[in-house]
Amino acid sequence: MKLKQIKGCAHYLKSPTNVGVLIDGKEAILIDSGNDTDKAKKIHRELETQGLSIKSIWNTHSHADHWGGNHYLQQKTGCEITSSKIEAAMINNNIMEPFYLYGAEPLKVLKNKFLMAKECSCGIFDSNHIDVAGRSVEIVDLKGHSPGMVGFKTEEGVFFTGDAIFSLEIIEKYKLMYSSDITGHLKTLDFLEKSDAEYYVPSHGDVFGFDGLKDLIEKNRDAIFRVNRILLDEMAEPASLEELLTSSMDRLGVSMNIGQHFLNRTTISAHLSHLCNEGFAVAQMDNNRLVYRTK
Ligand SMILES: [Zn+2]
Repeated sequence: MKLKQIKGCAHYLKSPTNVGVLIDGKEAILIDSGNDTDKAKKIHRELETQGLSIKSIWNTHSHADHWGGNHYLQQKTGCEITSSKIEAAMINNNIMEPFYLYGAEPLKVLKNKFLMAKECSCGIFDSNHIDVAGRSVEIVDLKGHSPGMVGFKTEEGVFFTGDAIFSLEIIEKYKLMYSSDITGHLKTLDFLEKSDAEYYVPSHGDVFGFDGLKDLIEKNRDAIFRVNRILLDEMAEPASLEELLTSSMDRLGVSMNIGQHFLNRTTISAHLSHLCNEGFAVAQMDNNRLVYRTK
């Protein structure tokens, strides 16, 4: 794991979940903290080698692969951790991710490190801007993938976008990209399309420049619209959530374990509320069975 400069104070550590590093003198602010304790140890070692101490961690959102290193780094350095209000509530209560995916006390199989990072103490951002090295870093609302996800944009034009934009490799590999709110997710893509940063740093994948932005956003939108079309087609006959999940995953060629079942079930639920709320479909009870159908 090697610290790489992007521009100005903005650096990053390439990792399965990239870690942004904003440098202010001898201090570093991390944007997310890696998947787990192992990654956190590597982050800590590399920053120490560079003569940097960790001042704080800013979390883009509360998915465990983005804050898996929080516990270790806070114990080791006493760093302050902050996120948006709703994401901080989940980071402070690590049961929340498996709990909301399952909707009740989760199955034991869901209580794993991929869905439950070790707890830490996380505060809430109290402003839309934070000064780093005498320049302003903007905290940007990127809700959709997660309800309170934020990104960070430096004055020098480096935009850390969390999980708002997925790389082509991820779209091709997973077919269905996790989202908790499709309406919000699409608005965030519209917003990002009009943004004017020089560099974009997605949490998964490579840094890309402004030139690649429009095309990648189009691919992200296409992936969402494709799932909408499949669901509308499947809802020609009334169908339950579980039936729609199975038929849409079959059509996308995706096979799921129990964890993926609950992640994809949440995303399909988000698609269904988007399609119902936008007037393309309705949800109704049919003999104690909740079904969705096209309008
Ligand atoms: Zn995420």
